[in-house]
Amino acid sequence: MTDLSADDLLLLEVDSLCVDYRLKGTTWRAIDNVSFDLRVGEAVALVGESGCGKTTTAMAIAGLLSPNAYVRNGEIRYRGERLYIDDDAAMRAHRWSHTSVVFQGAMNALNPVHRVINQIAEPCMLKLGLSRNAAKIRAAELLELVGIPADRRSSYPHQLSGGMRQRVMIAMALACHPSIVIGDEPTTALDVITQAQIIKLLGDLRAKLRLSLMLITHDLAVVAESCDRVMIMYAGRIVEEGAVADIFARPKHPYTQLLIDSIPDPAHGKRMIKPIPGDPPNLLNRKSGCAFHPRCPSAMAVCATQLPNLGRSGQGRVACHLDRSSSLQDEIPAYV
Ligand code: SF4
Repeated sequence: MTDLSADDLLLLEVDSLCVDYRLKGTTWRAIDNVSFDLRVGEAVALVGESGCGKTTTAMAIAGLLSPNAYVRNGEIRYRGERLYIDDDAAMRAHRWSHTSVVFQGAMNALNPVHRVINQIAEPCMLKLGLSRNAAKIRAAELLELVGIPADRRSSYPHQLSGGMRQRVMIAMALACHPSIVIGDEPTTALDVITQAQIIKLLGDLRAKLRLSLMLITHDLAVVAESCDRVMIMYAGRIVEEGAVADIFARPKHPYTQLLIDSIPDPAHGKRMIKPIPGDPPNLLNRKSGCAFHPRCPSAMAVCATQLPNLGRSGQGRVACHLDRSSSLQDEIPAYV
């Protein structure tokens, strides 16, 4: 058996990434100095409220940023090679073959007038150079892999349940043998039982195909079940990162603590979601200091003026003045 070095296992490096949006003559920063890595076979979650930058980060990695977004600084490397995110042709060649995406809302992502088997066969022809027949055989194998019965493989999307459509999306994401699958809220529109089935399917496929999984979600319960590591984002920055077990047992950042505290826990009489007081910040009008300070129950005077660095803290990273590492260290890339 071959021993793999740490470098062999390193698949993706996001290094000091900044992404800005332009709209009607105004520019605002959606992603601010984000650095992390992803290793072979690892499942990492990006978590935070709407507008925190998790989807923009994922879309930058997949080369699917909207036309009014541009990379202001930083870079993304795949197996040590820089990805030119603004180069459409280069990213088209990378996408689906190396990094693919399972979007939320399969009904919107699938073409309603084509049978699902044909929709999966198409990228097999275009990207893998397979003949029509060979592509259909591969599409049928992929649909079997994700648990679509043989008699449903020639259905149109509207003839399938929401869970089955999401399975089709997963099959399509796997069509060209990617190493990384990004799940952008892949279970959001599904009922709880189907959600659990889809999360289990992703976990099984990850183990079977040695995939790396990046899960974009606001649902910490899904993270607890399916991921190794979690990064909490707020106002376009990572504010805490660590192993899932550590973050759930000992969250250090006040925002992470409130997020975990917001999860219903019927076993302990907590049946309702406990919202975090206040509103997410307006990125068009960023204030100085820690972006969370207007909502933070532990805010100090320094929080309103100084932005805390994302520093090493135990086995993870945290950006909070309550943690000495945030004040004493410079921002440390994840892969150091
Ligand atoms: Fe709260 Fe200050 Fe930490 Fe920000 S830096 S999370 S305001 S204690």
